[in-house]
Amino acid sequence: MNGSVILKDIFALVTCDSNDNVYNSVDVFVENGEIKEIGKNIDKGVDEVIDCSNYIIYPGLVNTHHHFFQTFVRNRQDINYPMMTVIEWLDKIYKIFQNIDEDMIYYSTMTALSDLIKHGCTTAFDHQYCYTKKSGTYLIDRQMEAAGQLGIRYHGGRGTNTLPREKGSTIPDNMRENTVDFIKDCERLIDKYNDNSKFSMQNVVIAPCQPINCYEDTFIESVNLAKAKNARLHTHLGEGENDQMFERWGKRTLEWCEERGFIGENVWYAHCWELEKDEYLKMASTKTGLSHCPNPAVLGGFPILDLKELKEQGVILSLGCDGSATNDGSNLLDSVRLAYLMQTFHSKQRGGCVDAYDILKMATVGGAKTLGRDDIGDLSVGKAADLFAIDINKLELSGSLHDPKNLIARLGLTGEVKFTMVGGNTIFKDGELLNVDEIKLAEKANLLYKKL
Ligand SMILES: [Zn+2]
Repeated sequence: MNGSVILKDIFALVTCDSNDNVYNSVDVFVENGEIKEIGKNIDKGVDEVIDCSNYIIYPGLVNTHHHFFQTFVRNRQDINYPMMTVIEWLDKIYKIFQNIDEDMIYYSTMTALSDLIKHGCTTAFDHQYCYTKKSGTYLIDRQMEAAGQLGIRYHGGRGTNTLPREKGSTIPDNMRENTVDFIKDCERLIDKYNDNSKFSMQNVVIAPCQPINCYEDTFIESVNLAKAKNARLHTHLGEGENDQMFERWGKRTLEWCEERGFIGENVWYAHCWELEKDEYLKMASTKTGLSHCPNPAVLGGFPILDLKELKEQGVILSLGCDGSATNDGSNLLDSVRLAYLMQTFHSKQRGGCVDAYDILKMATVGGAKTLGRDDIGDLSVGKAADLFAIDINKLELSGSLHDPKNLIARLGLTGEVKFTMVGGNTIFKDGELLNVDEIKLAEKANLLYKKL
């Protein structure tokens, strides 16, 4: 794998580069996973030439928030997020998640990652914070195994909850850990898997679940470890906890995080729909990233982020599916369109909204920046050959090819892509995951989820 390939005569190459170039009828030469040349009529002896005259090619999507362990509770009649209070919902799902074990993590990760790959995702982050006595702590290890087998880049977020229920946590006590053990396991994972080099396939993120469910020292020690190990930090923020935080600490969550050093260039937060305008400025000035998760925001009926203003303020924006207990799917292409539709809903009141293409950039270059990577996210020379193709000879796309940049968010592509490539290796093509036996995996996964 990782030999040389030419993507020949591409109908349209949407690069998402700094000049927003879209090229027609060009070739892309890839060697050892890296884009070496983009131009007309590239003539080189290579291992493979792929005729792309009927394809639009986009940079691979980067997912910046998810909880793979929730994948096996999709479409359950007793979990209907829009119709439940948050407390009813939490009490329901966490009772179920106490049955999770290593195998369930492996197969639910396989399931979620397959969905992501089939819809153009080439780098996935997961926020794994479900640790019980039954599950043990080797869960990110099993996720690394799954991602490695599929061939996708994977950033594993080691989460935790440390505060007991009686002190205001929303998590059941037997999903609780202590800060010392958590930090020790983060260290173990970082030493074993964290790779910050160019074209890295594996990364580890220190990711306490959320401030409301943790002791203060969990966040402080996370910041210290991130500094010592040059790792990134992630948590949930501004998703309905601010009143409770104010009651407990006399301040809002963002200020609380800032005081503990849990903010800055190596940090990103999920959701943030509670942020106020002055907090947008704080996010921008500290270069803290924001992962917008449109699906749970709609299902939960939460306020719609003002992406136009956030973009104008310079906040680093990316897109996430979020866990399947609030999404029911792991399709980031679907989230691109939903995010766009949500912005258009308020466009007249807000004096306009971001372009459809801006949302695609959030899901590509924005995601790369959020994960601290300058080697992926756009298609230019020197970047990884992480990309996906869609076939223009599909009747449902006829009449829509005027503007490939905006196509994804405006049309909504819910079907599988033609192929997905990571580091020059095709990992999905014509409906088939090329590195694993999908039928076998699905059979096992279908047996396992019933145990939940
Ligand atoms: Zn989440």
